[in-house]
Amino acid sequence: MRCPRCHNLEDRVLDSRMIKDGRVIRRRRECLRCGHRFTTYERAEETMPLVIKKDGRREPYSREKVLVGIRKAFEKRPVSAQRQEELVDEVERHLLSLGEKEVTSRLIGEKVMALIKEIDQVAYVRFASVYRRFRDLSDFIEELRTLMEAPPREEGLPSTPSRPKGRGKPSRVKDFLPRLPLEEGEDTESED
Ligand SMILES: [Zn+2]
Repeated sequence: MRCPRCHNLEDRVLDSRMIKDGRVIRRRRECLRCGHRFTTYERAEETMPLVIKKDGRREPYSREKVLVGIRKAFEKRPVSAQRQEELVDEVERHLLSLGEKEVTSRLIGEKVMALIKEIDQVAYVRFASVYRRFRDLSDFIEELRTLMEAPPREEGLPSTPSRPKGRGKPSRVKDFLPRLPLEEGEDTESED
């Protein structure tokens, strides 16, 4: 594991323990170069079901993908990174509880949406209105990924007021995302 302080790759493990019902291994490590102690969490992703995409292709479950979508939804919202991680934990617990070898990407998206809704209405509307255009979490996340590769977020800067630019249908998510009329999200769930 890379030392977060000096980036050295060699360390020794001081302590290992299972947490979260044995699905995560927490390790205390000590960097062999600078002596810095840090903690890593390793997840047993191989136990997660395969994800069936809208087009029928299967792909391994990726925590990172789910997290990217969630981070995007909570961008500039008063919800801690820790809370966002916990939300992914909850999604994973749910998926494991189903006991299936495969789950649809849509099912994951719906679960994420339901959980976001319990936490933050603005994030919910933001996630739901974009997600519903795709109907497939993987496609949605891939689109988000391209957005995330754009210039760094302006953390700390005052957010530019959203300007609803007519009701015309945006051609790309990129054009669409920042201008969501968030206030109008009262009953988006009865969309279909
Ligand atoms: Zn180090």
